[in-house]
Amino acid sequence: MSLLDRHRAVMPGWMPVYYGDDALEIVSGSGRRVTDAGGRTYLDFFGGVLTTMIGYDVAEISDAVRAQIGTGVAHTSTLYLIRQQVELAEKIARLSGIPDARVFFTNSGTEANESALLMATNVRRSNQILAIKNSYHGRTFATMAVTGHRSWSSSSLSPLSVNWLASADRLRGRMAGLNDADLLDAAVDDLREVLATVTAGDVAALIAEPVQGVGGFVHGPDGLLGAYRKVLAEHGILLIADEVQTGWGRTGDHFWGYQAHGVTPDLITFAKGIGNGFALGGVVGRAEVMNAVPAVSFSTFGGNPVSAAAGNAVLDYVLDHDLQGNARRVGGILLGGLRALSYGILAEVRGRGLMIGLEFVRPGTTEPDPAVTLRVFDLCREGGLLVGKGGLYGNVLRIGPPLTLTEDEAREGLAILSGAIATADAESRIA
Ligand code: PMP
Repeated sequence: MSLLDRHRAVMPGWMPVYYGDDALEIVSGSGRRVTDAGGRTYLDFFGGVLTTMIGYDVAEISDAVRAQIGTGVAHTSTLYLIRQQVELAEKIARLSGIPDARVFFTNSGTEANESALLMATNVRRSNQILAIKNSYHGRTFATMAVTGHRSWSSSSLSPLSVNWLASADRLRGRMAGLNDADLLDAAVDDLREVLATVTAGDVAALIAEPVQGVGGFVHGPDGLLGAYRKVLAEHGILLIADEVQTGWGRTGDHFWGYQAHGVTPDLITFAKGIGNGFALGGVVGRAEVMNAVPAVSFSTFGGNPVSAAAGNAVLDYVLDHDLQGNARRVGGILLGGLRALSYGILAEVRGRGLMIGLEFVRPGTTEPDPAVTLRVFDLCREGGLLVGKGGLYGNVLRIGPPLTLTEDEAREGLAILSGAIATADAESRIA
């Protein structure tokens, strides 16, 4: 029995696996390349889902983790002091931009957002949350409730009362075709309208991704969160920035995605890349909000010594090698190369730094084309390049390589991607 058959026989049917009957088993990696069980090597433009932020087989990270395991104690309990954890919290608090910040570690982005929502609803004594359509925040009841993406919302039984703001989709919906200034005005009007009509006036928080990850790297203009914040402040509503995909320099111009918006959130959630493959997430935020949990809250594994050792090594690597600068430079090359392409099926190339989305449509329309998207996705793999998929309609390819991507690798991937798009475009004209 193949591994795929065994997977299908033992896992629930709703677990997503890329490449269907041709599912990929990655058995090793080095730099920005991974090798599958059949011995084929791929250039990785997705890093899991922006998970392997530094790349594969990085000595500094492996050594830090090995050193911790070498002590004979992988972990006991967060009831004891953990030096690695305190050091990492100090670094993150300092980098957060939040004065007198506190940090709580979790094992995932979902738990980080769940914790942030718990704190915000407690401090505000309200279960009302504002979320953005096309968002993804996790797979627990509360985080699913604020996930504005039907494919990922497997329950409508919510502990929160949620109201929705429009996402900054420039192709369709109420923001279609708007320039930046008009989009900012429309977004603020939308927020005021929601507050005036459908909430009871005591909203706890707005949760927002600075760039919508699963939603296909949709992002508003600079200043959008700041514009929201002005209105939120009139009502004492908190701002939670979900930086699970956008943190640590990913967006190039900024260390955190929120910094493009002239605003400092009350709470920031993080996960994914900070562990470079090890399970690590958390919340950093204002002490007053972080302390609002009314009873003891505890995580057995959150910020355990192995994950925290990885986190410290990752963060030091990001800062020592100016990976934010690399994301800006190499991301700029990729964005420039992709924006120069002109094909009927490619409606929009968007993104920031090394977080780039390609939106595919039926030529001459804004009608999403998930089939052509899948075709490009598969052709990329055939050509030796791994990319991601996403978007509300499954019609966006997502590029989120390790932040260590070199210029040569960017050009190599660009050539494979361009070839795949050209082929799919030609096929769509014949069909
Ligand atoms: N927030 C965002 C923005 C995410 O992209 C994800 C994961 N795709 C999560 C939260 C949830 O993180 P996790 O899968 O680690 O629970």
